[in-house]
Amino acid sequence: MSNNNLIFIILVIFLINLGTAAMLRMYTLKKHNRGLSVEKSLYRFHKLKYGHYIFTVISSAIISFIAIKVGEISIYFLATIPFVYVVVVLITTQAFYHKVYQAIRKTETSLMEDILFFMKMLIVMMIPSILIIVLRTYYITNMESNEFVLYTLLVLVIVLLLITYPYLMHFSLRAKQIESEEKKKAIVAFINKQNIRNVKVYQFSSKRSKFANAMIIGVFTKRIFISDYLLENLSTEETCSILAHELGHLKKKHLLIKAILLFFAIPLFTGIGYILDEMEALFGFKIPIPVGVIGMLGSLIAYLGFIFLKLSKIQEYQADKYALDIGVDKDVYLAALIKVTELNDSVKSVNNLDELLGTHPSLENRINRIEEAKEL
Ligand SMILES: [Zn+2]
Repeated sequence: MSNNNLIFIILVIFLINLGTAAMLRMYTLKKHNRGLSVEKSLYRFHKLKYGHYIFTVISSAIISFIAIKVGEISIYFLATIPFVYVVVVLITTQAFYHKVYQAIRKTETSLMEDILFFMKMLIVMMIPSILIIVLRTYYITNMESNEFVLYTLLVLVIVLLLITYPYLMHFSLRAKQIESEEKKKAIVAFINKQNIRNVKVYQFSSKRSKFANAMIIGVFTKRIFISDYLLENLSTEETCSILAHELGHLKKKHLLIKAILLFFAIPLFTGIGYILDEMEALFGFKIPIPVGVIGMLGSLIAYLGFIFLKLSKIQEYQADKYALDIGVDKDVYLAALIKVTELNDSVKSVNNLDELLGTHPSLENRINRIEEAKEL
């Protein structure tokens, strides 16, 4: 097959992806116009969107298969094709989806702002996997280097990422000091009362994208980022109750546990590479590198996805419990959780499958647990 044919096929698959995005957008807007509520429209839209993401990953695998057939393509290029493809599709589909948020949620961010923010987040999220893939590909192409060197490099990369992540996030969110002096004072006083040191709280702008959220990031340097949309709509007491939840993640070492889980993924990751190498030697056939890379990445995602999602939900319940344990008023906390859900136009309850696939438990399940915990 010639290079031109390859480019043609990639283009066709790409257009199918864009067509799917256009259809999802049309379908969601139509449903909403016919009276489906904002939350339900978004909920359905997000499910379809994730379906499309999976389809995108599958189509990138198909492209790799075809690329191998062309031959005479550098190994680095073969390993990057799926990534570049996924990134390009994600960014262009994001452009299609901009209208959905604008029409349904009445967000005020421009198309360019949305895309730039999405790109920044994508880069921040993908840096670890890109580094690991590059290292792995380097190892495959330089067989004389030994597994120990690769392993040490991987550990170094992860430690470096853990150190730099809070700063990376700070930079991407364009975080700054909390504007409201009153809230800032209350927040600092609240953290001091819990005897927690070296955690700093910042705010980031999200009023126009209507994103109400707070997150804690970092294993070494810890930073809490609160969106101004949340700060503006929650009372000081409610804000502190959400902060208590974030401090729960810190006190219970949740970020460290997740980081350790990532460390355990490395032996698994290199282990699969080793098994693939052995299989090649044993059966005398060559596994194409993109197939190997996708196979490894797939198992890694499955491993981390399954354990991570379960663990993530357990940690959310634990952080809720922590907030109540340190004396946050139950009714204030519940009011804050409900407000955040409503500000984000999220649904309050989901079906069992979506509960399983989500990183956070549904509001309904959290409220139930909080009520139960208080009765004990
Ligand atoms: Zn949480």
